[in-house]
Amino acid sequence: MSKPITIAIDGHSSTGKSTLAKELARTLNYVYVDTGAMYRAVTLSALRGNLFAYGELDRDALAQSLGEIEVGFDRDANQQLITLLNGENVKKEIRQMAVSSKVSEVAAVPEVRRFLVAQQQQMGDAGGIVMDGRDIGTVVFPNADLKVFMTASPEVRTQRRYMELREKGESITEDEVRENLLRRDHIDSNRSDSPLKQAQDARVLDNSQLSREEQLETVLGWVNEVMT
Ligand code: C5P
Repeated sequence: MSKPITIAIDGHSSTGKSTLAKELARTLNYVYVDTGAMYRAVTLSALRGNLFAYGELDRDALAQSLGEIEVGFDRDANQQLITLLNGENVKKEIRQMAVSSKVSEVAAVPEVRRFLVAQQQQMGDAGGIVMDGRDIGTVVFPNADLKVFMTASPEVRTQRRYMELREKGESITEDEVRENLLRRDHIDSNRSDSPLKQAQDARVLDNSQLSREEQLETVLGWVNEVMT
């Protein structure tokens, strides 16, 4: 059997990175790491600590608080992946709009990135991993065996995320969802530390018109290519 590989999946917000990465990891029997959930957990901690008290993020206080923040993953009784913030299951809370609207500001803080990137690199030490985020192929694993850059039209992304949030019972308009996606893309692509960009050796997957099955099939084809 060939050696387990490292797969980096990056791309714009709400392009279905996590869905694909999870299915890929399940199919290959690899570990899946959702790095967005880690940035979201740190954001939740900042919100709870009132670090946005005056409208602006207190970046120094956030950097100082990192020593007290432990982010991890586990599975619940139904074997569903959950995100832990200091041992507490925050899976639901980190998907709420309150967190989505602040996460890109938190993720632009260099100390936060250094803190989380070090943990992500450790998780991928042994290979056999699918990691999704914004800087996986460029910063976390620049030598990943396979890099995928996902994108889709803003209309498709807005629709997908809107339906997802509505199903979870969040009362939100389509316009609010679109605005949040585009704002996050803008901040993520323009920050000075590890901006979202396509790695030169990444393969682009525009899934505006592709089903989940078609996406998985495409990427499994790429996995085969790099493994042989
Ligand atoms: O993937 P998800 O949409 O949950 O990520 C939430 C936010 O976390 C992104 O909009 C981005 O600001 C930040 N992020 C990041 N680097 C990563 C993963 C996520 O900056 N590797």
